[in-house]
Amino acid sequence: MQQIQNFIESVYLYWAPPPNLTVSEWADRNRVLSSETSAEPGQWQTDRVPYLREIMDAVTQPEIEKVSVMSCSQCGKSEALNNIIGYFIDQDPCPMLFIQPTDGLAEDYSKRRISSLIRDTKVLASKVSDSKSRDVNNTILMKVYPGGFLAMGGANSPAQLASRPVRILLCDEVDRYPDSAGTEGDPVKLGEKRTVTFWNRKKIFVSTPGTKGASRIEFEYFSGTQEEWHLWCPHCGADVFVNLYGMVYDASQDAKGNWLVENVEFRCPHCLEEDDQIAWMSHEGVWIAKNPDAKGTRSFRLNAFASPWYSWEQIIAEYLKVKDDPEQYKVFVNTVLGEPYEVKGEIESEESLVKRREQYPADLPDGVLLLTASIDTQDRWLEYEIVGWGKGEESWGIQHGIVMGVPDKPEPWKAIEDILKATYNFADGLGLTVACACIDSGGHYTSRVYEFCKRNESRRWFAIKGQGGSGLPLVHRLTRTKKENAALIILGVDEGKTAVINALKAETIGPFYCHFPLDENRGYDRAYFQGLISEHQVPRKHKGTITMDWEKVSTEARNEPFDLRNYARAAMKLVVPVADKGFLALEKRLFEARNGIVAIEKPSGQKQRVMRSNLDREF
Ligand SMILES: [Zn+2]
Repeated sequence: MQQIQNFIESVYLYWAPPPNLTVSEWADRNRVLSSETSAEPGQWQTDRVPYLREIMDAVTQPEIEKVSVMSCSQCGKSEALNNIIGYFIDQDPCPMLFIQPTDGLAEDYSKRRISSLIRDTKVLASKVSDSKSRDVNNTILMKVYPGGFLAMGGANSPAQLASRPVRILLCDEVDRYPDSAGTEGDPVKLGEKRTVTFWNRKKIFVSTPGTKGASRIEFEYFSGTQEEWHLWCPHCGADVFVNLYGMVYDASQDAKGNWLVENVEFRCPHCLEEDDQIAWMSHEGVWIAKNPDAKGTRSFRLNAFASPWYSWEQIIAEYLKVKDDPEQYKVFVNTVLGEPYEVKGEIESEESLVKRREQYPADLPDGVLLLTASIDTQDRWLEYEIVGWGKGEESWGIQHGIVMGVPDKPEPWKAIEDILKATYNFADGLGLTVACACIDSGGHYTSRVYEFCKRNESRRWFAIKGQGGSGLPLVHRLTRTKKENAALIILGVDEGKTAVINALKAETIGPFYCHFPLDENRGYDRAYFQGLISEHQVPRKHKGTITMDWEKVSTEARNEPFDLRNYARAAMKLVVPVADKGFLALEKRLFEARNGIVAIEKPSGQKQRVMRSNLDREF
């Protein structure tokens, strides 16, 4: 009799027609959220978390075998897994395996979430008996129901992963799995092996990502359709992936250093209109695939900006709080932005930088929003750099060079003045001038620097003095010189140096990436790059404590390119103290100038479209 029963069950498992309901429809009809595990108990509504609809329903698409979700935490993905489990128990029963990172987490998940799922969803309660009852079929890690079972286990425990075949494999938080389950090998592979006998198998992988390149969920994401959740622009109707780099906000810090963030809006990259979270979420979004031809696997990525449980104010405040602390920032990137975090190595040689040089289409490549300059004073010449800056502190080396002449004489200063006053053009003819310059007052011609800067203060050409020591902010202090009454800015150069090196380590085009031109006339040759990486940090003992000091890698090294980039970045920080917001304002001005919304004429009256690439910020 038992044999016949088994036979009937197996025939049913293999040949039952697919049910008519989708997972989201089933959940909307049947699922009840429990008060102890949900902030919003009661009837489940997919409309509340519209991005989960497609994720859940992808599981029952006949041609889809694998569904992967790389996302932030707190976006409802556990509830999506619970809905999928409930759906199969009720509508399409079969053997399932649900893996958590450890046995302990699996037990905890079962006790808190699976038992309340079963208890509070009527159609499930009648099919699965309570583990507290005497039913031997139901333990914490095993739930049996007519037509199948749900086994749960940890990725650290080979015993749970290597028993009976399963049709549905659910892997939660896969980036927290160990490389090997005991000595048995990759826990995900072990789980996948158990599904091979089912032609209609399904594999569901869900996780916040970990470290770039070592992230399982990142790998799964890139092997699939790569769908991003797009919101509908309330102004132009474009579908937009809302992300950190388009956010505009007012931020201030209280005496304790806590960030107060207000008026957070996202700027549409298509029409440049800004609007708040409520407006952006007033329409249901849509999933758009970057790789729609991927066969059999749908993959999704999601950040916290789409989640109804995060306010944008909260996200930006968190970002400002952690952005300068690598450990905390990694957690933010993984759990809020839902992105893998990139770890960058030290720069060993100038070779990679020499190789990355590129042909610019004009003086200024698109993406540049602001120009700043820096000047270093030597005994027989002045060395300078002009740098373009864009969103996310992406930068472009524009011009590097030397003006010969003893700085005691007026000639080299006249030449520098011409360089700083010049207009640099985009391919479309629109031009930018230098918005701010930092001029090193160290060396033997300090008073010449002060005089030059005093004359040009209205142009924001400022004398600077570097001060070493950890903990000093880059723009440390503003003072005035006694004799000339020139503005003198004290820079915490060590912090700036770290930022320059970190930016040079960015290897993908986008935030922090440093572009350099191939054109020989622009002065970015091998010697320049050797100078740019001519210092490194070494531990030194000061008064009993160890500090990391910047030192030249060799006594012959010329470190002017490194200093110049540091000062040019300080000039950028003077103009754009709050980077993201400032760059968005600059982008808007450039957009308006390009589209003739504001006509900006050269002071001379020439009919050339020129704009001064600055924000009106007073000292
Ligand atoms: Zn728009």
